[in-house]
Amino acid sequence: MRDDHCVVSTPKARLAAVSKQDVAITVALGDGIGPEITRATLRMLEAAGARIAPEFIDIGEQVYLAGHSAGIQPDAWDSLRRTKVFLKGPVTTPSGAGYKSLNVTIRKTLGLYANVRPCISYAPFVATQSPNMNVVIVRENEEDLYAGIEHRQTDEVYQCLKLISRPGCERIIRYAFEYARSHGRKKVTCMVKDNIMKMTDGLFYRVFQEIGAEYPEIMQDRYIIDIGSARLATRPEQFDVVVTTNLYGDIISDIAAEVSGSIGLAGSANIGEHVAMFEAIHGSAPDIAGQGIANPSGLLLAAVMMLVHIRQADVAERIHNAWLRTIEDGVLTADVAGNASQAVSTEAFTQAVIARL
Ligand code: NAD
Repeated sequence: MRDDHCVVSTPKARLAAVSKQDVAITVALGDGIGPEITRATLRMLEAAGARIAPEFIDIGEQVYLAGHSAGIQPDAWDSLRRTKVFLKGPVTTPSGAGYKSLNVTIRKTLGLYANVRPCISYAPFVATQSPNMNVVIVRENEEDLYAGIEHRQTDEVYQCLKLISRPGCERIIRYAFEYARSHGRKKVTCMVKDNIMKMTDGLFYRVFQEIGAEYPEIMQDRYIIDIGSARLATRPEQFDVVVTTNLYGDIISDIAAEVSGSIGLAGSANIGEHVAMFEAIHGSAPDIAGQGIANPSGLLLAAVMMLVHIRQADVAERIHNAWLRTIEDGVLTADVAGNASQAVSTEAFTQAVIARL
């Protein structure tokens, strides 16, 4: 198994997930394609012999409609705090108005400060212009503009706060270097816009330099986010681990996943001191929901990271190898199939992975 699907757990989080027999995990199906890909993922986990006991919670649109403005049932927090491991389908968040993002609420409430997003090409089996890319984006997950703290100044002027703290910078940057060290990665790149935001992004880069000095064996460089994201799109093989603030990380990880072949391919781990959450990096894809054509790979690879986190690396490796064999055999969903007429459904893809376990 490629090491990229192993995450660095904090000591407390590791202790929280000690495996005896079945490990209780909290599962949410989510919105849009969420139920299709989450059920498919659970079937692949079950077929592989994952020693897990899922507890289902409701989140997303149906919960908002039932009158819970946070988008999550109040007692669902009990399950999350008890199991400390969350496999989550994507949820829909309205644009421009409407309720607050449940993703932001969950990440903040559970203190999930590190968002780890491996974006890897699987050439020649999945078409990409960048066959050698293997980059892990480590995204700060609680601060920055993404916290969504906004104010109305006047009818014509609105303000969004960009909050960056030294403790927040230290935690995510140390996490990125520890990740690089424990995964044998050679370089950590910091992406900021500190030529313009000299105080907020400036602090992030200063902390990067300070903490980087403790890791002399790891190469370090810095890009301003605009040229950094352009280079990530055109020459992603130059990057190894990228550490950045919340909003930039959100954007460049979608770019990186698409460059690798499809947004549907990348999984992510959201790591905190006590709890860890695993999800695909993509959203609820309402345009294809209910059609049975979604790629379950992003959530499946997130589940592979989850299995490593709960110390079931044997099962993680079995699933990852079966998944690799599936795409190597040319069994591909529509988002990655070069020839649309040969694309398989979510169901056929799931069965193909299970047949290769
Ligand atoms: P999206 O990621 O849902 O979809 C973007 C495009 O990629 C769509 O064309 C979609 O069909 C395609 N796509 C995404 N996942 C795919 C998959 N597994 N297989 C095949 N194709 C796939 O982004 P969006 O359309 O901008 O957002 C839809 C909703 O999802 C929004 O409400 C947004 O807020 C939400 N969202 C949620 C999360 C999350 O829950 N973590 C993340 C991002 C967006």
